[in-house]
Amino acid sequence: MSLFSAVEMAPRDPILGLNEAFNADTRSTKVNLGVGVYYNEEGRIPLLRAVAEAEKARLAAHAPRGYLPIEGLSSYDSAVQKLLFGEGSSLLAEGRVVTTQSLGGTGALKTGADFLKRLLPTAVVAISNPSWENHRALFESAGFPVQNYRYYDADSQGVDRAGMLADLKALPARSIIVLHACCHNPTGVDLSLDDWKAVLDVLREREHVPFLDIAYQGFGDGIDQDAEAVRLFAESGLQFFVSSSFSKSFSLYGERVGALSIVTDSPEETSRVLSQVKRVIRTNYSNPPTHGATIVGNVLNSPELRSLWEAELTEMRERIRGMRMAMVQGLAEMGASRDFSFVARQRGMFSYSGLSPEQVERLRTEFGIYAIGTGRICVAALNRNNLGPVLNAIKAVI
Ligand code: PMP
Repeated sequence: MSLFSAVEMAPRDPILGLNEAFNADTRSTKVNLGVGVYYNEEGRIPLLRAVAEAEKARLAAHAPRGYLPIEGLSSYDSAVQKLLFGEGSSLLAEGRVVTTQSLGGTGALKTGADFLKRLLPTAVVAISNPSWENHRALFESAGFPVQNYRYYDADSQGVDRAGMLADLKALPARSIIVLHACCHNPTGVDLSLDDWKAVLDVLREREHVPFLDIAYQGFGDGIDQDAEAVRLFAESGLQFFVSSSFSKSFSLYGERVGALSIVTDSPEETSRVLSQVKRVIRTNYSNPPTHGATIVGNVLNSPELRSLWEAELTEMRERIRGMRMAMVQGLAEMGASRDFSFVARQRGMFSYSGLSPEQVERLRTEFGIYAIGTGRICVAALNRNNLGPVLNAIKAVI
């Protein structure tokens, strides 16, 4: 009998399944709004000029490709810290942050989860309802039970603040709370600064461990504005985790560039924590790849490339915002039977559009417009060419 005869087929990844169906669709008018990727006005994944410049310089330098240290490239790690905590951060000056390069934001979450499992083996992990679809599976595969806390309020198209605070209070003390620092995926609905302060009070009171996931820094309101929650937590005196991703902000999806940062209480704690995180990394993939982090580090550390990147990031952010406004305005002008103004209040690449599973199904079968069954659409996949057909289709199905 084959070793694998009892292996069951795993469920298909819903988003990848949607992509396969999209690729097989022969209609020339098809539009894929199911993706989690930023497309430019031409419908392509951009190669940022700042990235291209840094790559050219790296190629010209004919640098050898030795192993990186387990924690990654130190010039990259420290540039990430400044991006998250700010240039003048007292936490950084006090040596209270451990940062290790990771395989994208996903790798940062998994390294953090594996380290936390050793630290708090019986803890519960809580994620927002809804959340990025990999959060639950990732923490479950690290051995944690995962629960939801209330987050999105469909009636107000905002945050269920009272529900969220009540659920965080009701969790066992010292639970691990995963929070989207900005540009919530999938809803696009973020906490206000006031909400963050209320959440922080509950976390402190219940001794919960915050795990801030920041995968879209710069896609909401700006680099520093989007780090508002991270900076608030930095001032709180709490210990917490941050996973960051440069997949979107540098358009480097396949290079797997991210970082795990852990805020400790002292430099002495920092070195002990770093030593343990290094063990987690060493036993998983030994050390991280060189290319993506070298490029991101060189861009962040070079004044010229940095300002070029910031301009390109601003362009991406403003293009998305422009598409949000055009969608709201377009649907209103077409006399759509529903008010879509909430789309303009959402942040980042995604919008919970309020479309039902049946309406999403009709968009696909009748119009070749692909969205997630929950109604999540990627606003960053809209452009001036596909906007009209998409809005006509939405008007037709609602
Ligand atoms: N966290 C969130 C909230 C995300 O949306 C994503 C991916 N889009 C990630 C983490 C993972 O990022 P990466 O692709 O860099 O692994």
